[in-house]
Amino acid sequence: MASKVPIRQLFIDGEWRAPLKGKRLPVINPTTEETIGEIPAATAEDVEIAIKAARVAFTRNRGKDWARTPGAFRAKYLRAIAAKVIERKSELAELEALDSGKPLDETAWDMDDVAGCFEFYADLAEALDSEQRAPVSLPMEAFKSHVLKEPIGVVGLITPWNYPLLMAAWKVAPALAAGCTAILKPSELTSVTCLELASICKEIGLPPGVLNIVTGVGPEAGAPLPAHPDVDKVAFTGSTATGRAIMTAAAQVIKPVSLELGGKSPILVFEDVDIEKAAEWAMFGCFWTNGQICSATSRLLVQESIADEFIKKLVNWTKSIKISDPFEKGCRLGPVVSEGQYKKILNFISVAKEEGATVLCGGRHPEHLKKGYFIEPTIIGNVNPSMQIWREEVFGPVLTVMTFRTEEEAIDIANDSHYALGGAVLSNNADLCNRVSEHLQAGIIWVNCSQPCFCQAPWGGNKRSGFGRELGKWGLENYLSVKQVTEYVSNDPW
Ligand code: NAD
Repeated sequence: MASKVPIRQLFIDGEWRAPLKGKRLPVINPTTEETIGEIPAATAEDVEIAIKAARVAFTRNRGKDWARTPGAFRAKYLRAIAAKVIERKSELAELEALDSGKPLDETAWDMDDVAGCFEFYADLAEALDSEQRAPVSLPMEAFKSHVLKEPIGVVGLITPWNYPLLMAAWKVAPALAAGCTAILKPSELTSVTCLELASICKEIGLPPGVLNIVTGVGPEAGAPLPAHPDVDKVAFTGSTATGRAIMTAAAQVIKPVSLELGGKSPILVFEDVDIEKAAEWAMFGCFWTNGQICSATSRLLVQESIADEFIKKLVNWTKSIKISDPFEKGCRLGPVVSEGQYKKILNFISVAKEEGATVLCGGRHPEHLKKGYFIEPTIIGNVNPSMQIWREEVFGPVLTVMTFRTEEEAIDIANDSHYALGGAVLSNNADLCNRVSEHLQAGIIWVNCSQPCFCQAPWGGNKRSGFGRELGKWGLENYLSVKQVTEYVSNDPW
């Protein structure tokens, strides 16, 4: 089993390169609080070289421009990456669990999803070849028009720490499939598996400069990407605050951005549900990935008539969730990612108490674990919609509960949020589920479930949860630009 992380450098122009200023950052295992390695810390000078390499690979590569290769050619590389991820699955899953604290079972599933994502976009890259030159019908016979789909250019991809390699795959796979070249900047808290993606790219012979991976802190290694005039687009997943900074920087040079930001998603449980099944989805929807999911359904709205029974069941089950070292068999909840997040989450809980909410279970560091950034899965009741704990994203294993009487009231409370990423409705009444799905403000709705995610379906939010959609064909379109070509075909003078 992995206990240390490989020593790596920045991955620029197909080569390992030490950061110019020689800076490195520690890799801390959140389970033990020990330093288990280090990653290179890029600065603006390194990012500049990566951008130049990506530009050369995009268009000035002595006829081997990635932008002009057929989709079928690019698909071969994407499939080769997928195959290597599967070949190295157990090692990658272990590194991800060490680095992030996520349970090993979950990181193993993540690796399947990573490979699936590269496979999916390999198919779409191939399909792109046959979608070129689609005719546009015009009202004048003297003209003919068609559309070319072209890669948008050099793209900056900035990702968070909750699904380190998967969030990178959601961006790298469609960007490369579209014919873009890229600079990936993973979170400084969890860069280990993204550096292994670099080793995979090297191994499969991905042409130099097509994917560059620069690790380091956001203001130094990430900020140059939205601000740089030679980066044509930025795709970002992370907090709303950073998203705002990225949009502001991108606005100075006028470039498109897509933003996948925070959330505070509601889950509405109606009185006709099977209480056991609904309680299971409510737990899964908030505590999966140690509660660190942007779309976590962390605002539970339960209909008053079943609230006592439902909450009692939920609290009892939550108390029995196994919280342990992510490598222990049966682990369902590991530590949160960092000391900073640990303190932030505990502070949210303490403010909730000060504001008059009640901790129904959890709320503390578990007694049986001496070290590590562990927080018991927590349910908070006696909440009202003006409380911080109800309104703000905690990004940890904390579920807040309110009750409602009517469908309209539930929808109103659910939509009273700055965020609009996900939402879940649980009921045996199909008409009610349809109505609620239509009225909830969100980019993703789950009916009688919470959190399943498929790379074929669009992903993204509205309001302060961002804009643009990843995954599916929408994810590919993020990296394509549409060009019209209109020809005068008449012999008559104009
Ligand atoms: P974060 O905003 O702190 O960091 C995200 C990335 O941005 C990191 O790589 C970081 O280094 C970089 N960064 C920081 N400052 C920057 C700057 N000034 N310029 C450029 N890059 C900069 O977010 P996080 O703490 O890593 O992730 C948690 C957040 O991500 C949560 O809010 C969560 O909801 C959100 N998230 C959203 C989705 C989604 O699909 N909507 C998915 C996962 C996570």
